[in-house]
Amino acid sequence: MQDSLWQAVLGEIELTVSRASFVTWFKNTHLLRYKDDTLVVGVPNVFIKQQLERKYNQLVADTLAKNGVKPENIEYKIHSLSTPKKHDEPVILNQVRDNSVLNRPTSSSLSHSYRQGLNERYTFENFIVGSGNELAYAACQAVAQTAGTKYNPLFIYGGVGIGKTHLIQAVGNSFLTRNPGGRVVYVSTEQFVQEFLDAIRFKKNTDFAGYYRGCDVLIIDDIQFIAGKEKTQEEFFHTFNALHQANKQIIISSDKPPRDIPTLEERLRSRFTMGMAIDMQTPDFETRCAIIQTKAGSHEVTLPHPVVEYLANLVQTNIRELEGALNQLLAFCEMRGLEPDLAIASSLLGVAKARPKHISAKQIIERTAKHFQIPMEDILGPKRDKDIVVPRQVAMYILRSELHLSFPKIARELGRKDHTTAIHSVEKIEREASFDTNIKSAISEIKERLYA
Ligand code: ADP
Ligand code: MG
Repeated sequence: MQDSLWQAVLGEIELTVSRASFVTWFKNTHLLRYKDDTLVVGVPNVFIKQQLERKYNQLVADTLAKNGVKPENIEYKIHSLSTPKKHDEPVILNQVRDNSVLNRPTSSSLSHSYRQGLNERYTFENFIVGSGNELAYAACQAVAQTAGTKYNPLFIYGGVGIGKTHLIQAVGNSFLTRNPGGRVVYVSTEQFVQEFLDAIRFKKNTDFAGYYRGCDVLIIDDIQFIAGKEKTQEEFFHTFNALHQANKQIIISSDKPPRDIPTLEERLRSRFTMGMAIDMQTPDFETRCAIIQTKAGSHEVTLPHPVVEYLANLVQTNIRELEGALNQLLAFCEMRGLEPDLAIASSLLGVAKARPKHISAKQIIERTAKHFQIPMEDILGPKRDKDIVVPRQVAMYILRSELHLSFPKIARELGRKDHTTAIHSVEKIEREASFDTNIKSAISEIKERLYA
C-alpha cells in the first residue's frame, strides 16, 4: 500500500517538474517507511538526498498532503534499493551523459551540489598574466580544455597570495562553462581533513568517499596541510587513484613542492609528481602594475601612474596584500571624497607598512563588536538575531583574512561548535563585501582601527 502511495506522489511530481529534474532527482526514490509520523524516502546517493532536502522538500510535502498523508517529518535516507542496477554509477552520471534529457535548469542545480566551494569571482578573464605566473596560467588553461587527459595531476606550488587559489578555481569555473552539468569539487585541504574525520566519526565514510570519487574535476587547495595526517593521506591516496584511473582531472595547490612537504607518504609524493608540477612565482613589477590598474578599474577608478607604481613597489610578493593596500586607499578616498594621489597613498600606506603584525583574535572580535555596538557576550553567545549574526560573520571574515586562522579555530573563537558555519560566514561576507558598500566600509573601518 505504501508503494502505491509513493507511486501516486511520483506521478504527480512528474507532472510538476521538468522531465530532466524528475529523472535526475525522483525516478529512483522509494518509500521506505511511514510510521510514527515520520516518512522515510530511500534515495540512491547523497547528492540526491541533499537536493531533495534543500530544494524539493516542500513539493514532496505538498504532494503527500494532496494524497492525504501529512507526516510531521520527512526524511531522506541513502538506500541500496534505490541504487540503479548498473554498478555504482549514480543516476546523476547517466543524466549528464544523456544529452537528450539535459537542460539548463537541471544542469545548473545539478552542478550546484558539486560546485561546492567554487567562487565565481575567480576566472581566467580577470587573471592578469605576466612573468611569474604565465606557465601556471598556460597549464591551467590547457587542463580546463582537456580535463583528465593532459596534465594529471596538475600540481601548482608557490608562496602565499600569488594567485594559486584564483587560478585553480578558474579552471573549475571554466570547465563548468564548457560542461554545464560537470561535477567540479573545490575543497581546501583543511576542509577535506575535517570532513573526513566527521565521516569516520558519524560513520558516513561511504558518502564521503563516493562524493569525492564521483567528480569530474577535483581541486584541492593547500595540500601542505595534509602533512602528518596519516589517515587522511591514506584516504586521499585512494581518492586520487580512483579519479586518476577514471581519467578524471585532479588539481592540487601547495605552498611548497611535493618533495618539501614534511611527513608526506612516499606513495602520495610520487603520485603528486606523476603529472605536471609547476613552480609559480610572484608576479614581476609590470604585472603587479597591471593587476593594480585592473582592480582599480573594476571599482571604476583610474589611478595616476605614480600611485600605481608606488603600490607595486610597496607590496612586492603578496597579491592579496597588494589588493588590501589598494582597497584601503580606495576606501579612504571614497569616504572622504578625495581623488587618490601619491601624497595620500604614501601618507596612508607608508604608516600602514609599519603596522604591528601581532593582533589577537580577541582584539578582532572586540573591535568588531564595538563597531556594531553590540556587547561581547552577544557576539560570542547563541543569539541568532540579524544584528548579531552579521557582526559575528564579519568577525569570522576578519579572523580569516587578517590572521589566516583555520575554520575550526575561527568557529571556536566565536564559541561555535560547527566549523561549517565559519566557512559559510566567511564566504558570505566575502561575497557581500564585493557589492555591499556597508559591509565593505565596516570591514575597512574595523581594520583601520585595529591597526591604528
Ligand atoms: P594564493 O592562493 O596563492 O595564496 P590567491 O589566489 O588567493 O593566492 O590570490 C590572492 C588574491 O590576489 C586574490 O584575490 C586573487 O584574485 C588576486 N590575484 C593574484 N594573482 C592575480 C593575478 N595575476 N591577476 C589578478 N588577480 C590576482
Ligand atoms: Mg590559496
